[in-house]
Amino acid sequence: MKRTKITLDENDIPKHWYNIQADLKTPLDPPLHPQTRQPITPDDLKPIFPLGLIKQEASTDRYIPIPTEVRDIYRIWRPSPLYRARRLEAALKTPAEIYYKWEGGSPAGSHKPNSAVAQAYYNKQEGIERLVTETGAGQWGSALAFSTQLFGIACRIYMVKCSYEQKPYRRILMQTWGAEVHSSPTTLTQAGRDILKKDPTTTGSLGISISEAVEDAATHDNTNYALGSVLNHVVLHQTVIGLELKKQFEVLGKYPDIICGCVGGGSNFAGSAFPFVQDKIKATHPNLRIVSVEPLACPTLTQGEYRYDYGDTVGLTPLLKMYTLGHDFVPSAIHAGGLRYHGDSPLLSKLTKDGYMEALAYTQQEIFEAAMLFTKTEGLLPAPESAHAIKAAIDFALMAKKKNQKKIIVFTNSGHGHFDLAAYDDYLHKKIPNGEYKKP
Ligand SMILES: *Cc1c(COP(=O)(O)O)cnc(C)c1O
Repeated sequence: MKRTKITLDENDIPKHWYNIQADLKTPLDPPLHPQTRQPITPDDLKPIFPLGLIKQEASTDRYIPIPTEVRDIYRIWRPSPLYRARRLEAALKTPAEIYYKWEGGSPAGSHKPNSAVAQAYYNKQEGIERLVTETGAGQWGSALAFSTQLFGIACRIYMVKCSYEQKPYRRILMQTWGAEVHSSPTTLTQAGRDILKKDPTTTGSLGISISEAVEDAATHDNTNYALGSVLNHVVLHQTVIGLELKKQFEVLGKYPDIICGCVGGGSNFAGSAFPFVQDKIKATHPNLRIVSVEPLACPTLTQGEYRYDYGDTVGLTPLLKMYTLGHDFVPSAIHAGGLRYHGDSPLLSKLTKDGYMEALAYTQQEIFEAAMLFTKTEGLLPAPESAHAIKAAIDFALMAKKKNQKKIIVFTNSGHGHFDLAAYDDYLHKKIPNGEYKKP
């Protein structure tokens, strides 16, 4: 059968998440307390996270059950389809097969609800009445607004001021799902008031908004904090993508040669790739290439250092061992807002350092060209973040063409670009800055 779309049944939604910490050859270096530089304890995290998530953060159980309530919400859009990009293959005249896992069909339009729903659930379980978070362009904020609404938890979102003013549509979406959205810095927190006193006209930053959200959670008993990427429990929740993907390749009777995906904090790609990294660790598929793709404007994996660094700009969070460009690094204002983080998931960083995964970086001009070709052939409009993965898949398909190899290439298409049309407009008007990185 000539298949274009491999869909699974609702009963095929995974019943467990896959925890790669169980299969690491050497354990992850622990997060350190920002002041004492000693490994942090569960007690250090209790003021802002529920115990259910704190346990997952350090767990070495290989499979962690997905609660029924979470699976029931996943049913709205999961299992997500795996597409074969036949029209893109034809346009490239490549002998390679190109597949993509489409995460743009979720209510918030990206992979982020895979973790937001789980986080809302564990907080609800422990009696938390309110979740707070930060958001840049609004992708994570909208995922959390949707999820808290379904569990009947209040949600407050500190949205970076320049996005709040320039990108109203995601703010409206968050408010439609019942969240309270504030232009950050606010006068609601000490961190916000201090920054406003120093610089009343600041346009804000993700680092400032994180400081506000963490302070809000730490100073209210009924309130916790939620983070949309980087941490082990977030990556764990995203493994529903990779577990489904593996099953879809079983249905096809095939196994990929190359898997690629875009990396900001690493959650969508780690979630897609880790069930396959397991095969590499076990050496059942030693030749599989697992490739992270990032912007040249924020080249964390390709040009950063592997060391301990803070998760936020101010230096309030635990120190994480990861690839980093330095916690005070501020990338240029590229449209792929979700890929502007200075660090990366410690798990994805370690597996890259240990040689199971590799990384590539592209300019913004290149990734928009790839997105345009993809949209013209496949129809779906990708987020600028996801376009990084598309560019890599196209390059691998062209390499396969040069060598006349029938490679099987799969990438994760992490979200749709319907809220990013201003970025596409800039591309159409030849106004895309490449924002290349200059080493400090
Ligand atoms: C947030 C986001 C990303 C980057 O985050 P990761 O944690 O690296 O997955 C990528 N794509 C989309 C569509 C996003 O919303």
